[in-house]
Amino acid sequence: MTLIDETTSAPTGGPALAQVRRVTTPLPGPRSAEILARKSDAVAAGVAHSMPVSVVAAGGGVVVDADGNSLIDLGSGIAVTTVGNAHPKVAAAVAAQAAQFTHTCFMVSPYESYVEVAEALNRLTPGDFAKKSALFNSGAEAVENAIKIARKHTGRQAVVAFDHGYHGRTNLTMALTAKSMPYKSGFGPFAPEVYRVPGSYPLRDGLTGPEAAARAITLIEKQIGAGNLAAVIIEPIQGEGGFIVPADGFLDAIVEWSRANDVVFIADEVQTGFARTGAMFASEIFGIEPDLITTAKGIAAGLPLAGVTGRAEIMDAAHAGGLGGTYGGNPIACAAALAAIDAFENDGLIERARQIGEILFARLNDIRENDPRIGEVRGHGAMVAAEFVNPETGEPDAALTAAVAKACVAEGVIVLTCGTFGNVIRFLPPLSIGDDLLGEGLDVVAAALAGA
Ligand SMILES: *Cc1c(COP(=O)(O)O)cnc(C)c1O
Repeated sequence: MTLIDETTSAPTGGPALAQVRRVTTPLPGPRSAEILARKSDAVAAGVAHSMPVSVVAAGGGVVVDADGNSLIDLGSGIAVTTVGNAHPKVAAAVAAQAAQFTHTCFMVSPYESYVEVAEALNRLTPGDFAKKSALFNSGAEAVENAIKIARKHTGRQAVVAFDHGYHGRTNLTMALTAKSMPYKSGFGPFAPEVYRVPGSYPLRDGLTGPEAAARAITLIEKQIGAGNLAAVIIEPIQGEGGFIVPADGFLDAIVEWSRANDVVFIADEVQTGFARTGAMFASEIFGIEPDLITTAKGIAAGLPLAGVTGRAEIMDAAHAGGLGGTYGGNPIACAAALAAIDAFENDGLIERARQIGEILFARLNDIRENDPRIGEVRGHGAMVAAEFVNPETGEPDAALTAAVAKACVAEGVIVLTCGTFGNVIRFLPPLSIGDDLLGEGLDVVAAALAGA
């Protein structure tokens, strides 16, 4: 099937929302402002938001607010609505399942859709070996369970995470996450036996992949000891940390060392998974086969679902009753995941992610050629970022980044920032966005940078 209707450049399917950018009020408009005022009265201050709008609909490449403003979506709700918001296959599957049954608890009375999602994860994740999966509600919960499984399997306790890593906001995953503000500050004490080592950040460390791996491995061996280490956890491309793509040879060296030392290698693909990077999983880009892979975000088009998938003998280490949760693998979320996976596999979405990547790279590199304040454009597929620097010193420029993002927001383009130094704008458009709208969004970004 063709993904894009050539006549309108609008995505096929999705709610019948006009695929246009239209901002007719200042943001927030009056209706959104009213709702956001209620938000600040009713919702805890810690739950912040970056777009000053209240949403009423979304689909294709737009998000529509309560005042009728239509915004270009370059964020996909943080890499979640990869197949597109309110995707027709997902909406139909959710409605049908909700009418059938909404919950039984898989640990009490199981159902087929959970088993089907597990089978799909086992089939789609890299590695030609026997695999098993378990389902949870959020990325952080998947990461916590991957660590539980690795500890039970190895009988060891220590876990290694990396500089610039992000793994969630629960207690154990705060410990694994690198950045203090806003994720950790004031929320300690953190879980013990978590150690952080430097990874590979080619723009800033100037090391080759093997050199960066050797640096990390030496620290692990000298300061932790391989015999104490249960798992190494890393995002193949670091997301919140700044879309950092490791140098060639880094990840394979860490995988090889882990294997040689019976350490469980966990790839956190919560953000990179499910076609986002132009491969079903980013591990494929680097030719690695992780022992365990954590997934969430793009897996179910916005329904809360997460998974841990990996080598059957490791996954089976936990005793019966040791894994689970009331809602994990909820039937409505599983129905959404099966519909989304159908779209990933059969609607050309991996190819579409690559096309979007070509458009993003071409345009952003074009801007960079005439503007040295963009220090680097990097990423894979529909996961691309620009890092903003002081052209003289190469130092991170967070103020410029914030100014560009703010100008984009005011013009009706949803962009997200990231990076340890707050100096990265990341582009994560839904794969249902049309080329015209994507191009217009990038025009706005270019104008925002020129005016900053
Ligand atoms: C978002 C994210 C998480 C946490 O997922 P939640 O669903 O927010 O708990 C974990 N790891 C990575 C790589 C993420 O991007």
